Amino acid sequence: CGVFGIWGNSSPAHLSYYGLHALQHRGQEGAGIVVTDGEGLRAVKGEGLVSEVFNEDKLRKVNGKAAIAHVRYATAGGSGMENVQPLLFHSSTGSLAIAHNGNLVNANHLKQYLERQGSIFHSSSDTEVVAHLIKKSKLSPFRAKVKEALNLLKGAYSLLVMTKEEMLVARDPHGLRPLSLGKLGDGWVVASETCAFDLIGAEFVRSVEPGELLIINDKGVTSDRFVDMQGRAMCAMEYVYLARPDSDIDGINVHMARKRMGKQLARECAHIEGDVVTGVPDSSISAAIGFAEESGIPYELGLIKNRYVGRTFIQPTQELRERGVKMKLSPVVQVVKGKRVIMVDDSIVRGTTSRRIVRMLKEAGAAEVHVVISSPPMTDPCFYGIDTSTHEELIAANHNVEEIRQAIEADSLTFLSAEGMVESIARPFEDANRGLCLACFTGKYPTEIFPDTLLPHEK
Ligand code: 5GP
Ligand code: SF4
Ligand code: MG
Repeated sequence: CGVFGIWGNSSPAHLSYYGLHALQHRGQEGAGIVVTDGEGLRAVKGEGLVSEVFNEDKLRKVNGKAAIAHVRYATAGGSGMENVQPLLFHSSTGSLAIAHNGNLVNANHLKQYLERQGSIFHSSSDTEVVAHLIKKSKLSPFRAKVKEALNLLKGAYSLLVMTKEEMLVARDPHGLRPLSLGKLGDGWVVASETCAFDLIGAEFVRSVEPGELLIINDKGVTSDRFVDMQGRAMCAMEYVYLARPDSDIDGINVHMARKRMGKQLARECAHIEGDVVTGVPDSSISAAIGFAEESGIPYELGLIKNRYVGRTFIQPTQELRERGVKMKLSPVVQVVKGKRVIMVDDSIVRGTTSRRIVRMLKEAGAAEVHVVISSPPMTDPCFYGIDTSTHEELIAANHNVEEIRQAIEADSLTFLSAEGMVESIARPFEDANRGLCLACFTGKYPTEIFPDTLLPHEK
């Protein structure tokens, strides 16, 4: 998912719309904006793409001085309008809106506790749990309620909470999902990715720190903490696959990190001979460029993407996913015919995409197809909001590299080493992982995982 917030602006709904547009790659299933004019909160939201959900008419009707906004990833909680965020709650003690990126690992436990106390849930999203916890807190002022609630959460969250008076911005103690603060005129903006700032002409200020709580209101920004940082563990897959190449995460440009991963990968498979290097659009182009530069093998446009089809993962069934891939990509026959093609992709999850592409390239006349992946084998599921699916579905959880090579029908298959990936991302932190989460490659989760922790799509 992607979150965006703005405080102190005369067109918060329109700017949120542009902000969400820049974050569209983080979720295509639904989008919403909640605006405050200082008197109350009003929402516009719907299922589908940002351009489908909003129009001029709807945006003009909800103007004010601040807004929080969200794009929804298909698999985070069940589908349906009630799960589209920001969630908005009205009560006699004041309205409250919440937008969340990430996944809580103790949502089930908290939900059961709240239900025993009489809470009734309207959605299957773990975000609603946060709202109930805030409402139940007896502390005051409002920020103390939020801090108390945050201390009960475990897992990944970049969270925006808004009342008619203020916007609270929190990032989990490990900083699993990205979140940045920016400035626009006299107002403030926050976004999952810095590419949203560039689009609206806002200036990047800094990352929100793990365990930090920002309070933004008409007086400006105040920084507080709800907990000490618990070992930085920024999601490595944001750099590998999820984030947009023009975004910077903790000062590191995503395109440049991917390019370094591609170069490192080329060094790790120097024995492979090829005539052309091609990337799978869009997420592996940067790595493919790096691979070509390092190996000296020319980069070519071997695959074309049809822009008007959503991400393959969005389709709910395997059959639809397979069909999705075909709709999405086409080979450039003149480029690949008779050639030994080195095909760079960012990751293998189920293996479906790679197999389809290998077949596609061979049908287009490629003499050999060498698959090189700019991340290590994914052996373990992600509980923090990226849908890498269950253990059973992860091909690398149950098969070694040679078996995967056979399954995807490639002439050779090479994954980037975990050390190579960490070095290439090159985060400026001291510890061995450089402040990265690597759990889906190593099985070492930065938080507790409970027996009843659900994967996002199991809800
Ligand atoms: P699979 O191996 O499951 O068929 O698909 C892997 C491909 O799906 C990669 O090329 C990657 O770009 C894309 N993809 C789409 N959504 C996700 C996701 O949530 N995580 C990962 N790792 N890859 C994804
Ligand atoms: Fe990212 Fe993998 Fe950690 Fe999930 S488990 S947060 S995908 S690095
Ligand atoms: Mg891809």
